[in-house]
Amino acid sequence: MLDQARSFLQSHFGYDSFRTGQEQAISQVLGGENTICVMPTGGGKSICYQIPALVLEGTTIVVSPLISLMKDQVDTLLAAGIPAAYINSSLSSADLYETMKSARNGEYKLLYIAPERLESYSFVEQLKQLTVPLIAVDEAHCISQWGHDFRPSYRHIQRMAELFPNDPAVLALTATATPHVREDICRLLSIKEKNTVITGFERKNLSFSVIQGQDRNGFLKDYLKKNEKESGIIYAATRKTVDQLYERLQKSGISVARYHGGMGDADRVSEQDRFLTDEATVMVATNAFGMGIDKSNIRYVIHFQLPKNMESYYQEAGRAGRDGLDSECIVLYSSQDVQTQRFLIDQSLERDRIPQELEKLQGMVDYCHTEKCLQQFIVSYFGEPYPKPCGRCGNCTDSRDSVDVTKEAQMVLSCVIRMGQRFGKAMTAQVLTGSRNKKLIEFGFDELSTYGILKKQSVKDVTNFIEFLISQELIGVEQKQFPTIFVTEQGRDVLLGKQSVMRKEAVRTKRIATDDP
Ligand code: ADP
Ligand code: ZN
Repeated sequence: MLDQARSFLQSHFGYDSFRTGQEQAISQVLGGENTICVMPTGGGKSICYQIPALVLEGTTIVVSPLISLMKDQVDTLLAAGIPAAYINSSLSSADLYETMKSARNGEYKLLYIAPERLESYSFVEQLKQLTVPLIAVDEAHCISQWGHDFRPSYRHIQRMAELFPNDPAVLALTATATPHVREDICRLLSIKEKNTVITGFERKNLSFSVIQGQDRNGFLKDYLKKNEKESGIIYAATRKTVDQLYERLQKSGISVARYHGGMGDADRVSEQDRFLTDEATVMVATNAFGMGIDKSNIRYVIHFQLPKNMESYYQEAGRAGRDGLDSECIVLYSSQDVQTQRFLIDQSLERDRIPQELEKLQGMVDYCHTEKCLQQFIVSYFGEPYPKPCGRCGNCTDSRDSVDVTKEAQMVLSCVIRMGQRFGKAMTAQVLTGSRNKKLIEFGFDELSTYGILKKQSVKDVTNFIEFLISQELIGVEQKQFPTIFVTEQGRDVLLGKQSVMRKEAVRTKRIATDDP
């Protein structure tokens, strides 16, 4: 069957070979195994069900939430000589009737359906009459509360799968599944964990870096000057910051466009066009910009403020270097942005999602504090095994010396324990630096042996150090009404002297400032 799959790849799609992961996913599906396939956008997920659909007898059902993409997909398949159709709310009832009639006659190799359709009893009754060898679930993270786009209608998929007497294989596909989301998908769609295919998250032409402890406006000015001929995107967290940045850059003579949800439609389209046609070299935007944008020569993506989670970050940063040429992805990190993002999360309407969102935000903060390879961090965040450092990112190319900070780490860890592991970073930093904060004294923390033990440092430095210990997984964060910190197993090993802690020397911001007037 795999030979047949390969010949379809050649005859219908014009490709000579499978990409990494495609062959494994396809052979599992052809072997009747329920499978989950996690690949980044553009990785080639569609082939993983389109080819089995051609090989297998009957009509493959594809559940997809994106109505506009459904039509594109079907058009592409029809153009390649593959009979396919879609069913969603854009069809008239006459069209719906005709399509279902043809489907019952077995005229399609693929039938795309919107998940909401599964809520209709009569529709499901009709589906039952088809011969279905495979059910492909696109954007499968929508089935999980932990995904960034939970859709209750996805919960009907499993029941649909049980309708068919021949026990069709299920193939779940997604670009953004953290281990937690993957677990949900596997459990809800009866996929064995060993049938997970994850590949292709590394982007070999992108170099990631995190800049902190520097004035970001100054950094941006220098960076744009050095790269004035190159196209790039600057993402900011709020509309207000976009407007401010836009005005500032425009004043300094940079050809800049802007984009955010508060602008009128016509304005947004014309600004986007100016960027796409290279009339403007820099785009300043909120995360509203970029969906479906296909501009290949973007040389850098700078996040002026902290993105809300790794999923959004990698998607936005990934818009750089589509043409395969070397490009940069930079986060300008300042710890106060964490408060901004926390505020934005707190404003969101779905109260029950707040703990998940806060945990994901913490993943983003960890990214900014890790001293490991950043590409490695990203790839393992998405669950792909990744044995060696990339050699390109800000951390891999960092030549600063590491210093042993085990003693200092032990002071912080022991303070966290003495405070009962019920408080946040800020309060802990205040105790360590010997603050006279009233609440702290009310709790009697000024009597702890760790009170003021780091008083030579600022609260900000100690808070940063705690963030660093979190990124090293020596301290954990629990999201209650407010986040509280605790010492992890690994942290206890450090306390017991079983493990040491190394940290890169701090950036000497002063020297950078005099080098760069
Ligand atoms: P995804 O759904 O993962 O975002 P697509 O299935 O749309 O990605 O594929 C992205 C692009 O890669 C498409 O243009 C597709 O034709 C191309 N592609 C997929 N598989 C292969 C392959 N084996 N060889 C070459 N190109 C491929
Ligand atoms: Zn690296």
